[in-house]
Amino acid sequence: MQMQSFGAALTVTGSMHLLTLGNKRILVDCGMFQGGDEMEKRNHEPFAFDPAELDAVILTHAHLDHVGRLPLLVGRGYRGAIYCTPPTAALAETVLIDSARLQVEGYRQDLRHARRQGREDEVLPPLYEEADVYRTLALLRPHLEFGETKTIAGIKVTPQRAGHILGSAYLLIEAPDGRLLMSGDLGNRESGLQQDFTAPPEVDAVVIETTYANRTHKPWAETLNEFRDALRESVRQGGKILIPSFAIERAQVILYTLKNLMDAGEVPRIPVFLDSPMATRATNEYFEFGDELIPPVREALQNGEDPFRPSTLHVVPTSAESQRLNKYDGPAIIMAGNGMMTGGRIQHHLKHHLWKPSTSLIIVSYQSPSSLGGKIVAGADTVRIMGEDIKVQAQVHTIGGFSAHADQDDLLAFLSSTGKPHVWLVHGEPEVMDAFVPVLAQQGLKADMVPDRQNVELLGPGFSTGRPPGVVITETPEQGTADAARATSGE
Ligand SMILES: [Zn+2]
Repeated sequence: MQMQSFGAALTVTGSMHLLTLGNKRILVDCGMFQGGDEMEKRNHEPFAFDPAELDAVILTHAHLDHVGRLPLLVGRGYRGAIYCTPPTAALAETVLIDSARLQVEGYRQDLRHARRQGREDEVLPPLYEEADVYRTLALLRPHLEFGETKTIAGIKVTPQRAGHILGSAYLLIEAPDGRLLMSGDLGNRESGLQQDFTAPPEVDAVVIETTYANRTHKPWAETLNEFRDALRESVRQGGKILIPSFAIERAQVILYTLKNLMDAGEVPRIPVFLDSPMATRATNEYFEFGDELIPPVREALQNGEDPFRPSTLHVVPTSAESQRLNKYDGPAIIMAGNGMMTGGRIQHHLKHHLWKPSTSLIIVSYQSPSSLGGKIVAGADTVRIMGEDIKVQAQVHTIGGFSAHADQDDLLAFLSSTGKPHVWLVHGEPEVMDAFVPVLAQQGLKADMVPDRQNVELLGPGFSTGRPPGVVITETPEQGTADAARATSGE
C-alpha cells in the first residue's frame, strides 16, 4: 500500500494522490492548484505518471481543487472510468465548465494585454477548453453510494459521508495488506447543510486533510447571531447589502439562513438578488439531492417547500440584468461571486456601491490578505476595482464561522473511532500540520506529513520528526499563498 501525492502535499490545493495497491494504480482526486501565479504554474507541469496506465480515478468531492485537472488528465491519455457519487458528478459538471470558460476568458484578456507589451510568449494557454470538459464528463461514473462497497480495479472501496459539501465522500479502501481511509475534505460538524460525517471504522492507515487542524471554529449559534445583527444594522443603513459568496455550499447556506431569519421575522423582508448563474445551477443540485441534507431541509423539501428561496428572492440570469441592478433603488441584498471579490459580478456591484456610506458589505468567506476582499477587511482607504480607484466608505461586517471544513475538534472526533492507525497528513500548510502532530501524539497516534511527490509506504515507519526530510518549519509562516488558496477554493 503505497501513495505518491502530486498535490495537497505540504499545501492546501491541487489534491491528487496516486495509490499503488499490488499491481493496481488508483488516482484519488485530480485537483487544480489555486492561489497565486507561482502555485498555479504547477497546473501546467506534465503528470509524473502516464495517465493511460491508471486503472481508475475516484473523486472525493467536486471542489475545483479536487477535480480541476481532470480534463487535463483525459487530454493526456486517461480513458478509464472516473468514479464518484451522483451529486459530485452533477456539481463537477458545473465546476469544470465554469473553470474552462474562465480560463479561456482569462487567456484572451492576458493575451490582449501582453501583446501591447510585446510579451505574448509569456502567456500560458488555458489548461483546457469546454470540449475537453465534455470528453471528461463522458467518463464520469456516478456509481458510488454512501455505505455501499464497490470493487474498483479489483480493490474494495466504500464511500461514506464526509459532511463537507453536497456529495462529499471519504473512502474506505480495503487492500490485501491493510485497510486505509482517504478523508477527502471533512465537514464542519456545526455549520452548513450537510449531515455530519459518518464515524469511520478501525483501519491501519488514514490519509487526512488538515486545512484547519490548528484551530477551533466559532460556535454556530454565535455565527448566526453575528450574521443576523449585521443584517439588521445594514437594513437600518438603508443602502445595498453586498454578500460575496462562493457558488457551492456557501451560497446555499446563506440563502437557507436568510430564508429562516426572514420567516422568523428576525430580519425584514427586503429583496434578495442571487446574481450568480453558477450558484443558481449549484442550488438546483442541492434541490435535486435534498435527501442528503440535514433533517430540516429534507423535511421542507418533502413538504414541497423551497428551503433555499427567501420569499423575496430574485434570480439574476444575464450580465445585462446584473448591470441593471446598479440602477435599482432602495435596500436590497445582492449575493454575487466570487467569494473573495477577485473577479465575477461582485466587482461591478462593489464599484457602484462601495464608496457609499449607506452600503454594507457582509463577508462570509475567508479573504486572503492579497485579494480585493482582504484589502477591504484590512481597512484600505481606497481600492482599485475594474481600473478605477474606489473609496471604501461602506460598513464592512466580517462573519468568520461559516467554514465548510473540519476544525481540530472535528478531526479528532473523526479519528476517535479509527483505532490506532498510522496517520498521514495532507491538504494543509506545514506549520498547521506541525502543530497537529503533537496533538495526535497525545491521542496515541503516530502522524507524518505526506511529502510532495515522494512515494510513501502507508504502513511503514514514517519520519522520526513527523516531517519529511528537508521540511523546515519557520516561526512566522508566510500566510499569503495558503490563505489565497483556501479562499479560492471556497473554504
Ligand atoms: Zn473541498
